[in-house]
Amino acid sequence: MKITIIQQRSKCIGCNYCVEQAPERWRMSKKDGKSVLIGAIEKKGFWSVKVPVAEKEMNENAAKVCPVNIIQVR
Ligand code: SF4
Repeated sequence: MKITIIQQRSKCIGCNYCVEQAPERWRMSKKDGKSVLIGAIEKKGFWSVKVPVAEKEMNENAAKVCPVNIIQVR
């Protein structure tokens, strides 16, 4: 089973909260200070990646704490 994580990256404010919740899937970019969804590909501003269901909970937590609400898990 896989889940999909989606980030609307342009709206990221670089708070690091997603990295704290799911460090295996998120990191901060030194280039632009926004977070990077590891393994994701971009389509029309939305970055997405399919990951094992084992990552569901930590990424749902990341989605919950994101202050600008740009992370989706489904
Ligand atoms: S929690 Fe949201 S705003 Fe903060 S770094 Fe992650 S994606 Fe960006």
